[in-house]
Amino acid sequence: MFKAWACDEPKGTLHEWSYEPRPLGPNDVELKVICCGICGSDIHTMDSDWGPTKYPVVVGHEIIGTVVSKGDAVTNLQVGDRVGVGAQVAACLKSDCTACSRELDPHCPESVFTYNGVYADGASSYGGYSEAVRVDANYAFKIPEKISSAEAAPLMCAGATVFTPMLKFGLKKGDRVGVVGIGGLGHLAIQYASALGCEVTAFSHSPNKKEESMKLGAHKFVITKNEDESKSCVKSLDYLFVTSNSSSNDYATFFSWVDFGGKICLLAVPAADLVLKPFLFISYEVYLGGSLIGGVDSIKKTLEFSAEHNIRPVIERLPMSSCNEGVQRVRDGKVRYRVVLEN
Ligand SMILES: [Zn+2]
Ligand SMILES: [Zn+2]
Repeated sequence: MFKAWACDEPKGTLHEWSYEPRPLGPNDVELKVICCGICGSDIHTMDSDWGPTKYPVVVGHEIIGTVVSKGDAVTNLQVGDRVGVGAQVAACLKSDCTACSRELDPHCPESVFTYNGVYADGASSYGGYSEAVRVDANYAFKIPEKISSAEAAPLMCAGATVFTPMLKFGLKKGDRVGVVGIGGLGHLAIQYASALGCEVTAFSHSPNKKEESMKLGAHKFVITKNEDESKSCVKSLDYLFVTSNSSSNDYATFFSWVDFGGKICLLAVPAADLVLKPFLFISYEVYLGGSLIGGVDSIKKTLEFSAEHNIRPVIERLPMSSCNEGVQRVRDGKVRYRVVLEN
């Protein structure tokens, strides 16, 4: 049995709970969990915000752990390796899969998310607020030695989620990049874009995030609601990454900041539908899209790039047993910028 922290209902608290893990398959590894970040998705899932959650749910998909056992067919990892697991734990990874063959394995029809997911054999997936997890070895990534476990955890979801579209778009030196929302994702997006040589503008409604944003590599800081500052950004960007899921986000203003042919990329999911005037698209000639999470290839690249360019999340550490306190800090919007729960 694995001892974990489970939630039983929307807005519920986490409590100790044990479950029988699915049998260790030939391609699986078992990890002793060292630590796990708290991602906004954890709370959306606990609360059934994105559709009915199957309770009890054990969330957590920024997992760092030590391999304690492995299936017979696992060749990429050894017992004792320190690895990370992100938001996905399985996909077919076959060359004839339209998703996996194009490094879009998060969209594989056989994709299994780290928690609240269902394996082909019908077993549920349980996440990292736990003493242990079992996952497909293809989704357990060796952590570069330079990166501490607690700092590596948020790279597994938040880091890979923001870096993946930067890779897809081929961001390069001199590109003008905006980041809306300076939180768990945004504070990493600033660092990646800056390390890629981009001109980075950070957008936030909190003036008190200016100093930190500049320290993280932003070249300009704009208070979103300040009309003069907002006007100074008209057609000033090639890419705008939206990491805030605030329902008060003003997309007409976002469109105005992006130059002709530029892209707006959604990385957060507002609870309410977006209502947009079609003329926004036509008159600005701006593209609006999004990106899900990092796949196998981009998670590896995220870890390598983070190690090489000294990109680290700003974290608050708490013991795993204080997971309810951590969740509450996220609910209250108090975290700067990621909570990591340690066993
Ligand atoms: Zn996440
Ligand atoms: Zn596939």
